[in-house]
Amino acid sequence: MFDLIIRNANLPDGRKGLDIGVSSGKIAAIAKSIAVAAGEEIDAAGRLVSPPFCDPHFHMDATLSLGLPRMNVSGTLLEGIALWGELRPLLTKEALVERALRYCDLAVTQGLLYIRSHVDTSDPRLVTAEALLEVKEKVAPYIELQLVAFPQDGYYRAPDGVSSLDRALDMGIGIVGGIPHFERTMEDGARSVEALCRIAADRGLPVDMHCDETDDPMSRHIETLAAQTVRFGLQGRVAGSHLTSMHSMDNYYVSKLIPLMAEAEINVIPNPLINIMLQGRHDSYPKRRGMTRVRELMAAGLNVSFGHDCVMDPWYSMGSGDMLEVGHMAIHVAQMAGIDDKRRIFDAITVNSAKTMGLEGYGLDVGCKADLIVLQAADVTEALRLKPNRLFVIKAGKVVARTAPRVGELFLAGRPASIDTGRDYVPPVLQR
Ligand SMILES: [Zn+2]
Repeated sequence: MFDLIIRNANLPDGRKGLDIGVSSGKIAAIAKSIAVAAGEEIDAAGRLVSPPFCDPHFHMDATLSLGLPRMNVSGTLLEGIALWGELRPLLTKEALVERALRYCDLAVTQGLLYIRSHVDTSDPRLVTAEALLEVKEKVAPYIELQLVAFPQDGYYRAPDGVSSLDRALDMGIGIVGGIPHFERTMEDGARSVEALCRIAADRGLPVDMHCDETDDPMSRHIETLAAQTVRFGLQGRVAGSHLTSMHSMDNYYVSKLIPLMAEAEINVIPNPLINIMLQGRHDSYPKRRGMTRVRELMAAGLNVSFGHDCVMDPWYSMGSGDMLEVGHMAIHVAQMAGIDDKRRIFDAITVNSAKTMGLEGYGLDVGCKADLIVLQAADVTEALRLKPNRLFVIKAGKVVARTAPRVGELFLAGRPASIDTGRDYVPPVLQR
């Protein structure tokens, strides 16, 4: 009847104690108690079962390159870009593929099975594009990898920016990127937004731009991006990544901007770990947080999803491929600590990201792909608090990764011999 049944699962929406039946790689039943047996059974034992994590903003050509050719001394975004410029001519396809595949191994153990990666097209050799197109094919059985042609050094500012981006799209990269705030002038930035949206419309591709990743409140390329989105009929297919300048903008201006973004159905992708690390660097005290206005954008009905952005690369020396760490940081930086807030944050690293990425068959409904993760936590709140082990990671109904539960052993007279750091420490009022 079923190839796999997961018993006694709690779902992200709060439903508890359900069995999930899987057949032919799809979810075939979700019920209180499935009476038949299956080829394989997993006892979730009242733990959270979720669709996998989706990272809508990453740089797989740079990941795990920390220290090559040197460390980022100031820790700033601009030194990171300069450092990447030093490393880029030294990149080989083989090394890029090897690093990306290793990151994907890590991602799978973390239950991260959908990734959108920007691919730097500034170097006309385009080894980055060649390498990541190969990786995309190699990991396709377990990770859906989307690629964005990203003119890191500027579409107009880099000598071969325009032609390299075109060639990367011709090679099969399927999303148009941009970086308007890094062009030489505001005018060049606005022109780049228009040109890139036109390319997307002509080629029938989505757009995902690094947009306004700065503390400058006058960096308003998101306004142009929203307007060009409507002009070219790209509503719902355009993402604005970072949008950190919105943190510093005048409130009156934002009250006009957000409805414009809603009209264009812009997908908003803040990157909380990187934003809190890299923004506000020119401030003394008080220091701005530099993350965009998550609560306000969500309240206006915009689709907000969080990206990891970087793991151990020229911009960020930390990171572990864990989208719960991203959500955990988002809760703090956006100050969203209520129960409903946490559910919204969990959505931002799962269903909202899936929407940004245009994923089909993603979710926890009958008929969806049987891509599922079992976490060592009872619900989304506990998952975001503990960043617990991913006990099982399932792709198309097959277990592709497993991690043993984390249990602490104690050697203390009169105290318990072992504890589950999650369920044994929930205050009585929250006991389930
Ligand atoms: Zn980025």
